[in-house]
Amino acid sequence: VTDRRPIVAGNWKLHLDHVEAVHHVTELGMRLRTMDVAGVDAVVVPPFIDLRSVSSVIEAEKLDLALGAQHVSEFDQGAYTGEVSAAMLARLGVTIVLVGHSERRTHFHMDDATVARTAAAALRGGLIPMVCVGESEVERADGSTEEVLARQLGAVLGELDGVDPDRLCVAYEPIWAIGTGTAATPEDAGSACAHLRKLAEQHLGEGASRLRILYGGSVGADNAAELVLPPDVDGLLVGSASLTAAGFAGVLGAVADCYRSTRRSPRR
Ligand code: PEP
Repeated sequence: VTDRRPIVAGNWKLHLDHVEAVHHVTELGMRLRTMDVAGVDAVVVPPFIDLRSVSSVIEAEKLDLALGAQHVSEFDQGAYTGEVSAAMLARLGVTIVLVGHSERRTHFHMDDATVARTAAAALRGGLIPMVCVGESEVERADGSTEEVLARQLGAVLGELDGVDPDRLCVAYEPIWAIGTGTAATPEDAGSACAHLRKLAEQHLGEGASRLRILYGGSVGADNAAELVLPPDVDGLLVGSASLTAAGFAGVLGAVADCYRSTRRSPRR
């Protein structure tokens, strides 16, 4: 039994312009009205330019959906052309932000130190950083998964001294599982998340039991329930399946049902 509320976040990546986004969230809202997903914190994570429109739909329709961003600047303000600050996002109603997604690490050269500074900037601006970590296929094959996770999470927690575990979350996303159709097994996802919680204990002490740790990588409605069964997995970060309202609602419903039937009792 856990008192950590599950989070299910849908990362739209570079998909859906603001008009498509409005249709998508409106349809999602209609589907959610017929479902009991109150036990799950549902988050949509659109591209920056959609945020205002999506937030208007959420507000107008009174949807129980939180708004996330895919990235944020490590800087608070200044001469940083093209950047968007945490305070700007918070003012738009964003509450949570992905930090260090593997696609940002790979395509935009985000190293561990930059990820750590970005997580700190998110917190300063009032956002909850969802710090993404995970090993590559090569690292997995040579048995260095635990070492990679220790390096990636250690860099962030070392920078966020004294952070409130309720103001942070972590997503374990093995790179080989992202967008490949091959999810980790529930056992592997569970043991990686348990390892991350142990690592977090070194910095957060008992507070690590409040930290929410998600799994991400090729999740859909068909495998969502089994992936949140391990006790240290507190939700899911979903890419492709979140691009349709039916797909994302399916994942949310599966997680809500799983928590209800296994009597894991999340707090409000
Ligand atoms: C992701 O990008 O965070 C992700 C998990 O993608 P997918 O679900 O498509 O594997």
